[in-house]
Order: sequence, then structure tokens, then C-alpha cells
Amino acid sequence: MDLSKFRAALGDIPIEDHPRIVQQKSRDHYWYSPILKAQLDQVTADIVVSPRTQDEVKTILAAAFKYEAPITPRGAGTGNYGQAMPLSGGAILNLMGLDRVIDIQPDRVRAEAGIILEKLDEQTIHAVGGEMRFHPSTYRMASLGGFIAGGSGGVGSIRWGGLRNFGNILGLKVITCEAEPRVLDLRGPDILKVAHAYGTNGIIVEAEVPLTAAYKWVDVMVGFDSIIEACAFAEQAARQDGLLLKEISPVAAPVAYDYFNRHRPYIKHRDQSVVLILAAPAAAEALADFVAYHRGEMLYRSDKATPEELAKLPPMYELAWNHTTLRALKVDPAITYLQTQYPDLDHVKKIIDFFGDEMPMHIEMTRFDGKIVFSGLPLVRYQSETRLEEIIRIHEENGCLVFNPHRYTLEEGGMKKTDRAQLAFKQEADPKGMLNPGKMIAWDDPEFDFDSGRVWLFAGLQTLGAA
Ligand code: FAD
Repeated sequence: MDLSKFRAALGDIPIEDHPRIVQQKSRDHYWYSPILKAQLDQVTADIVVSPRTQDEVKTILAAAFKYEAPITPRGAGTGNYGQAMPLSGGAILNLMGLDRVIDIQPDRVRAEAGIILEKLDEQTIHAVGGEMRFHPSTYRMASLGGFIAGGSGGVGSIRWGGLRNFGNILGLKVITCEAEPRVLDLRGPDILKVAHAYGTNGIIVEAEVPLTAAYKWVDVMVGFDSIIEACAFAEQAARQDGLLLKEISPVAAPVAYDYFNRHRPYIKHRDQSVVLILAAPAAAEALADFVAYHRGEMLYRSDKATPEELAKLPPMYELAWNHTTLRALKVDPAITYLQTQYPDLDHVKKIIDFFGDEMPMHIEMTRFDGKIVFSGLPLVRYQSETRLEEIIRIHEENGCLVFNPHRYTLEEGGMKKTDRAQLAFKQEADPKGMLNPGKMIAWDDPEFDFDSGRVWLFAGLQTLGAA
């Protein structure tokens, strides 16, 4: 890498080189994992480059190719797997300056990659009464490009599945890292080359996503005597086609009482498990009836709360997804988590019986290829790496999937399958391997086993018949 020539080639594009700021921008939320924390704590880039236009992104990528400067793209840096951390130094490409909305239609929106998801929804709600189908719980921070390149699903996935499903991303505009960077408009199955690829094979500068009707969602918290009752209710609620719910998340005691500080006054006792729900306003009363029928205890409804109460509380979705882990970590720094999937309630029960309070259960009900499944983000009271591996092994031996969040490569995390088509795309789009180096094993290891038979959340392209 010739850093000084790289910098000189960038003209007046803003560059930051203060070591403390560069180090801050070289981090994401990798520290939720004690294993990644130990591995990545020292990682830092040399500079941060902040393009203001798509043309500036092209200038940066041409210079990166010419002077062999590693480029690690970054949105808001909320990823949890060290995806946005520059393993080989070089430049952080801060994309938050690309935040224009380009086109809003009644059923879709096209915007630049750096727009914050909440800001995007504000504009589409105002223009057409539509909102994104689902968003991560980092809605108020995360960027559109970062979500597509590094996320998987979230609030709304109970209805719409995840980013892995056809139709949830309609188009991507991507810039390659070559002598003369090309601008590619990806549609159809080609989108999957770049979705959840951590920016290893192209920089997303625009994305088009579908919209659905927007509501003023009602936050609901329901109490149960046991996590199994909470999960059984959550599954039944997820199957109620007439109840328009955007989020259903059972969380085992004592998590809500111990870690949801501002909601604690609503929780009756430490042994109460809860289900976090977002309901459309028209569904709130019917949901209350459904809760009573299942002998749940209605603990909180935002449509019944006073303005003073509302002002004090975070939105319910900021208790869910990886915000559950964050809230636990703030109280007990020894906590970490896993990402799992349980095929049915019996499997959830079996795993809860195995681990008890060593692994307080946290489920996100999601729709996965048309089926309602129990996606797990259980907390883990961390003892050692060996014990964590054992917990993973016990899951797998009992027919439960684990997408390991303690790995920074695409393949080891079990989220994305790299196949030959994907590798070929990287060879075209990033022939010198300058984009987020070290994150795709298949690029670095010629012996990589494409046919290992493991299960990935984002299946490979070949499975889907893409070229
Ligand atoms: P970053 O962290 O900046 O980047 C993510 C990855 O994408 C990195 O590999 C980066 O290099 C790459 N990248 C960023 N921008 C681009 C671009 N324009 N082109 C190419 N590559 C790019 N995830 C979920 O899916 N669902 C959740 O509900 C969820 N909840 C979370 C809760 C908490 C508290 C935290 C800390 C994380 C959570 N996450 C969740 C993970 C993370 O928030 C999401 O993945 C988020 O969408 C990332 O957006 P970002 O802008 O912060 O991306």
C-alpha cells in the first residue's frame, strides 16, 4: 500500500487521520463477543475517508486499486461481528454522507446507502404512507447500505421474512474496485451476490426496497409465569392471521426485571417472563382479548400510557433483537449471546431444560421460508470459550441451528454461504482483493470447501440458480 499517494489522489474528499478518531471509526459492536473482543481490540485503519457523492466513491476506489489501499466500508458501525473492522489497515470508507432519497413510489423506495433507516421511513411515510417491511432494532442509527451488507432481518420479520428472501431487496447500485470502477445495477438473484457480503465484493451506493403500509405501532408487554408459556403464547399469536403484529419476542425471566431498567416498574416480579409485541392500532384490542384467553398478564400498552410515561420509555423494539443483549451487557458485562434457530417449541423446551439460567432464553418469532420459527438470540452467562463451544455443540446435536456470532468471517459465522459464483463475482468486482480484506475465507484459501454441507442463513447463489 502506498498511503501517501492514495491520499494525494483523493483531492478534496474529506480525510480524517487523527489516531483516536480513526480508531473509533475502526470499531463496530464486535465487543458483544468476548472472543471477537480479544481478537480484534487492536485493529485500526490508517485513515477515514468520507465521500459526499457517488463520483467521489469512484475516485476513492480507483485510487485504492492503483495504490493497493485496503478499503473497509462502514455505515453506522453497529454490526456485531467485527464486519466493519479493517483487518489490514488502510482506509475506512465512511458512507454516511451518501444519504439522499432518490425516488419514492407507493410500494417502493430507492435511496443512497448512507441514509439512516428511521430517516428513510420518515420520508416515505410523509410521501406515500409507506414504511420499510422490516428493520433492525438499530433503526435509529443503522444505515440502509450497512443493513443490507451486514444485517439479516428484524422488527417486521414475523410478517415479511428476512433480507435473504427474494423480493425484500429490489435493486442495488454497486461500485467495483478496479482501475476504472464500474457502476453495476444489480437486480433479481444478482442482488444476493452483494447482500450480506460485508462489502467484500462491491460498495453499495444505492438500494431499492419495497414498502408496506405504515402504522403508529402500539408497544405491548405481556407477562407469563414461565418462558415456555410465553413461547407457546408467542407461537399462537404469530399464527393469528387476523392480528397485524410487527414484532413478537418472548424473553425469559429474570432478563426483563434485571435488565429492562425503564420498563421494570411494569414487571410484577423477577420470575416473570415477558413477550414484547408491536401491534397495529386496530389489532390492539383483539390482542388484549387473545392475551386474556391465554391467561397472560397485560403489563404495558403504549396506547394506554400517559404522555409522561411515554416520554420516559424507549420504544419496545429497543428491548428486542440485539438490544436485549445490549441491555443485559450494560448491567452485566460478562454476558454474551448466541444466534440460534429452533424448529419447534419442543426443541426450545429441551434447550431451556439443558441450560437453565446459564442461558436465559430470548426468542424472536420470525417467518422463515413461509414457516413460523423460533429464532433465538439467547443470552449466555459466559464462562469460557470451551464452554461456549460446548453449548453450540449441544444445540447442534439436538437438531437446533447455530449461526455463530463469535466469528468475523462470512463463512464461519454461518450466515452466508460463499459459492463459486460469488467468488467469481469478487474476482470481477475486486480483482486485487482490496475490499474488506480477511472477511471471505474462500478468497484467501484456495482449498476452501464449497461443499461442506453446513447450513447457512443466506444460501449460496448456485442453490438459487443464479449465474
Ligand atoms: P455497519 O456496521 O457499518 O456495516 C455492516 C457491514 O456492512 C460491514 O461489513 C461493512 O463493511 C458493510 N457495509 C456498510 N455499508 C456498506 C455499503 N454501503 N456497501 C457495502 N458494504 C457496506 N441486525 C439485524 O439484522 N437485525 C437486528 O434487529 C439487529 N439488531 C441489532 C441491535 C444492536 C443493539 C446492535 C448493536 C446490532 C444489531 N444488529 C441487527 C446488527 C446491525 O445493527 C445491523 O446489521 C445494521 O443494519 C448494520 O448497519 P450499519 O449501518 O451500522 O452497518
